Amino acid sequence: MPGFLTADEIEVLPKAQLLGHRDMHTDVLVIGAGPTGLACAIEAQKIGLKVIILDKGCLVNSLFHYPAGMLFFTTPELLEIGDLPFSTAHQKPTREEALEYYRKVTEHYQLDVRQYEWVKTVLGEDGKFIITATDRAGRPHDYHARKVIVGTGYYDLANQLGIPGEDLPKVSHYYGESHPYYDTDVLVIGGKNSAAIAALDLWRHGARVTLVYRGSQLHHHVKYWIKPDLENRIKNGDIEAYFNSIVQEIGVDHAVIDTPRGTIRLKNDFVLALIGYHPDYDFLRSMGIELSEDQCRPVCDPVSLESNVPGIYVAGVIVAGSRTNEIFIENGRFHGKQIAEDLRLKLRP
Ligand code: NAP
Repeated sequence: MPGFLTADEIEVLPKAQLLGHRDMHTDVLVIGAGPTGLACAIEAQKIGLKVIILDKGCLVNSLFHYPAGMLFFTTPELLEIGDLPFSTAHQKPTREEALEYYRKVTEHYQLDVRQYEWVKTVLGEDGKFIITATDRAGRPHDYHARKVIVGTGYYDLANQLGIPGEDLPKVSHYYGESHPYYDTDVLVIGGKNSAAIAALDLWRHGARVTLVYRGSQLHHHVKYWIKPDLENRIKNGDIEAYFNSIVQEIGVDHAVIDTPRGTIRLKNDFVLALIGYHPDYDFLRSMGIELSEDQCRPVCDPVSLESNVPGIYVAGVIVAGSRTNEIFIENGRFHGKQIAEDLRLKLRP
């Protein structure tokens, strides 16, 4: 793969070699090894650029943290990147099948993914960025890149209720799997897909579930095959639900909830606050990327996705700011092509 190193950059190579014989110079550095970041890397490689991808977690780290056995809402072809077919045994792929697919894509394109490297700072300017990342041992490593693509997603940062007790160990903003909750009282907060799926799964695996949602009924975004299932469980009394209700406080073995019938104190062992996620706005700002006031959308060219900082591109769900329900793998995967077209014009001789 041809690179575009300057003489200055090549001089620094011996230092990079000291850090494990890895090349720390690249044309394009992608931050985030999710489906979007991988798609960006593939498209940039296709036009002959050298690309390094850094991720603070593992490959497709967010998908890895989705609930075990989770079924995607869409059919596999809508998750495909790099024109590689994704075929699955059933109509909709599972989390596990998606993990395997993206591993295979990474292998196929020989993507240079450096896992467990957490980007802390992006300094410099267009053509000569210096990206500092820390590895699992906390050691800093400097990368030099001509262009930077930020595809950091949003699943790492959970929305917060901002109430007393939210930091107790029994509270989680992620749902992994049902087994640890068997024969326990679980309070699920939220009224969209994550909350609905978790409530049903927990109940089906022996947990006693109470759902609390600030809306008057399950949100209309809950998928059409999930919503009636949960509504029927609620109607049947299998799952207790409080609508138009707000959790005020979480205690070690209870929660205080404001309901239309007054304030109640509900016993529980665990609380799953499945109230959504948001991009790392501070990280975007730290690079000089401006965010819109109302929705925290990065200022960027809608075609090239180059941000207000020349040479730094944004990709995937972060493009939508706080409107995280606008961009998914299904449409974010095309951002790579948009960005690569601009890189082709600017970087190719
Ligand atoms: P979400 O769609 O952002 O929903 C968050 C829920 O939490 C909403 O019901 C919201 O209430 C509520 N909420 C937010 N802040 C709150 C607060 N401070 N206090 C109380 N309630 C609060 O999050 P999600 O359900 O985790 O879904 C995230 C994304 O993943 C979505 O795009 C979803 O479609 C997707 N997803 C995909 C799958 C799959 O592919 N199988 C499964 C689950 C989720 P309001 O309704 O009032 O805003």
